Amino acid sequence: MPRKPMGKSEQEKRLRRQSKQKIKSIESSISKTPTKCDVCSAPFNTKNPLSNDIDKWRIAVYDHGPVELVCPDCVPDDIKGS
Ligand SMILES: [Zn+2]
Repeated sequence: MPRKPMGKSEQEKRLRRQSKQKIKSIESSISKTPTKCDVCSAPFNTKNPLSNDIDKWRIAVYDHGPVELVCPDCVPDDIKGS
């Protein structure tokens, strides 16, 4: 028996639910933010973030969960510029 095609509102509801879940997973990965550079292990001073040249550190959040922190020395040049 052929299934009834999904109505538009039904589809939108489903999309909204998915993005909510995604936000939740990003929030939980931010709470696990690493405290050192993932490349060279340079420590990130979480007690005094301003001492870290914080503008130059880069945080990458991946869809599958992990959060990577990269110190100014390890940020690739092509990312530094942007
Ligand atoms: Zn580094």
